[in-house]
Amino acid sequence: MLKLIPAITLFLLHFSGPVFPQSDAYLPNDKEQQSVAQYIEKIDMSRMRDFPLHEAPGPESAGMNIAAMARLKLIEMPDYQIFYDGVSKIVNLVSKEQLALFMTPPTGPTRIQEDRQRKYNFGKLIYQHFNDDFDFLMVATQEPSNNNYHFEVKPHATGTGAGWGVDHSAQMGSDGELNSFIFLGGTDKFRDGPGSHEVMHAWAHSNKWESTYFFHAGYTNFGGILGGWKPNSLKSLGNDRYQIDTHKYNSTAMGGSVAANGWAKPFIPYSNFELYLAGLIGPSEIGHDLKRAVNFVWVNQNNGIFSASEIQTTTIEEYIAEFGERIPNHIDSPKNFKALYVVLSDEPITSEQWKIANDDVLWFQLPEDDGDSRRYNFWESTKGKATMSFRPIDYIRDQSVNDEGSASDWPALYNGITPKLELGIPFNNIGFFDVNDSTIYSCIRLYTNGYPAEHGGISEFGIALKIVSLPDSTIQIIKSREFNKSGAFNENAESPDCSGKFETNTGVYIDLIQTDNGVLDTTWSLIDPIELIFKLDTYKYFEKFPM
Ligand SMILES: [Zn+2]
Repeated sequence: MLKLIPAITLFLLHFSGPVFPQSDAYLPNDKEQQSVAQYIEKIDMSRMRDFPLHEAPGPESAGMNIAAMARLKLIEMPDYQIFYDGVSKIVNLVSKEQLALFMTPPTGPTRIQEDRQRKYNFGKLIYQHFNDDFDFLMVATQEPSNNNYHFEVKPHATGTGAGWGVDHSAQMGSDGELNSFIFLGGTDKFRDGPGSHEVMHAWAHSNKWESTYFFHAGYTNFGGILGGWKPNSLKSLGNDRYQIDTHKYNSTAMGGSVAANGWAKPFIPYSNFELYLAGLIGPSEIGHDLKRAVNFVWVNQNNGIFSASEIQTTTIEEYIAEFGERIPNHIDSPKNFKALYVVLSDEPITSEQWKIANDDVLWFQLPEDDGDSRRYNFWESTKGKATMSFRPIDYIRDQSVNDEGSASDWPALYNGITPKLELGIPFNNIGFFDVNDSTIYSCIRLYTNGYPAEHGGISEFGIALKIVSLPDSTIQIIKSREFNKSGAFNENAESPDCSGKFETNTGVYIDLIQTDNGVLDTTWSLIDPIELIFKLDTYKYFEKFPM
């Protein structure tokens, strides 16, 4: 016993060194990154997700590394799974049922109500796991389809003339933050599909323009993503003939198009009238009256010549008189939108699919010129007047909430830390001493008489142990929870191990504990089963795992 005292003192001294980062903030050095990369190659690729290494430049990419990027988390529910991480712009909802519902629109006399109910159910599912903190809820199916649409969840501005004016927030499970639900038939619809088009439907257009499908520009001079010829280009040729300048999908196209139901790819930015409706410029900045051709028929499309029975002109003042002022106006209106982007699939998407979807969103949200004059991301579409951010990690409800305590009681989704590979520790996750709160975070597997056991149906517990007495080298379990209940993965996309072992019969607890000076192989004895106090029996630095 006497011999043990200096050892105990030494042991406890190790617990007062420099701050050792918690597992969530753990940044490996170059050598470790290399071995992580080698290790990743070896593990089961079907479970593996890697992440784009060319995250767009900007403050968000500072300090990123492969370990942080690969830290995939999983919400496991009986009928579905949600994968997410701390850096990606997307989450992956794996649900055969939800996918089937979205891929096969309802038919029959109740199809409209049924279709709506499906959106409501989807919204409620999402809000079980994400906080109501974003304006746009977007779901993109991994499987491509021709469906793309916008659904107004609640009226969010007056004076646009668009929308139905019905508030569906409660049915969607939103407390009022959500503006729009957007469905995209594929994960490439921002760069190569109608993503910016669907977003503009949050504000445009009025049915006044009588487009074939509701809410587009029809045959007007709006010249935006929702259609129309170029503003201020209309010339009267006499009688019922007119000439206009139109957008062309590409420079070699012979004739352009009015795109009365809007454009399917973002090769033009939002027009001034669209920007006005979106609350991004004032009425005086539009720069033209609103013109509409009645009974539009092409006469010579290559030369932009059409016939019409009438050209109706609506001044912006008349528009405001008809639909009211745009409130909030362009000064008070929101400019920095938030969105949650959900990739819906029937099985977990592959790392390559994850990368493609994430890259499409990365491009769309980039608040700068992307240098591509044939594609406009959101910032470019709004002419630099608005941004849209996608940070699912900011909205996720904390998954470490459990019976034992609130989310903030635990520093991470699961207890423990990934040990350095070169130590050859046979666990991918061990306990660690957090000097910030002088607490050991680890987990224990229950054993009775040498056989795996369980308590209340649980065999592995995450535990937090606080030092009771330095001279006595005693520690106390201050809280516990089911180990890794949320099914989180470590930075190598593996399920974390549980390094601690507690033998209920003898009260002996053995564990590997990371301190700033190395990994300690420890043995403790339960000396107070009521207060759950353990006393240190032996310790040594980890060298080779005792088999
Ligand atoms: Zn549309």
